[in-house]
Amino acid sequence: MKIKRLKLSGFKSFVDPAELRIEPGLTGIVGPNGCGKSNLLEAIRWVMGESSAKSMRGGGMEDVIFAGTATRPARSFAEVTILTERPASEVIGPIGAANDGDVEVVRRIERGAGSAYRVNGRDVRAKDVSLLFADAATGAHSPALVSQGKISAVIAAKPTERRMMLEEAAGIAGLHVRRKDAEQK
Ligand code: ATP
Ligand code: MG
Repeated sequence: MKIKRLKLSGFKSFVDPAELRIEPGLTGIVGPNGCGKSNLLEAIRWVMGESSAKSMRGGGMEDVIFAGTATRPARSFAEVTILTERPASEVIGPIGAANDGDVEVVRRIERGAGSAYRVNGRDVRAKDVSLLFADAATGAHSPALVSQGKISAVIAAKPTERRMMLEEAAGIAGLHVRRKDAEQK
């Protein structure tokens, strides 16, 4: 799966709509301390279904919404859109089958209303989005997304945590969710 574009609006410090195009090759993001580099990586994890506010450096999930500054009022919602391209060989499952080629995932959070997701314009559940990315061997907990200061966490991980990282990298993490579902039915 390739990330082609990321759009943010009202997400953390990105109060005005911003678009980041990721061209083939290496993309670097540079800027002074506090300009929002880590916020961009967090936006990628968030749109992929991150459910832990702590790992988004917030106390609650609504903390991802632009909180306002001395000169700008707070926003009432945050929205992140990710456009990815996936080869047909990666496509599994009912959501996946309808979405080979370009897949656009949108997550939006409104104060007091929680998060809503859309895949290629269709309303879906958080779980569908997690599965979509898990099947492509990526997602909010993918070891491919390394947050600032997280290298030492990999080294210090317990064997069970390390196993989860390997399963996510191998693209089989989604199978556990499906097994749990099947066992409940
Ligand atoms: P460094 O080089 O120090 O790692 P960085 O470029 O990674 O910096 P970030 O951590 O992405 O910077 O951005 C931090 C900035 O985002 C801070 O100025 C913080 O106030 C701002 N910020 C975070 N959450 C919000 C929010 N909900 N509303 C407004 N601003 C926010
Ligand atoms: Mg940073």
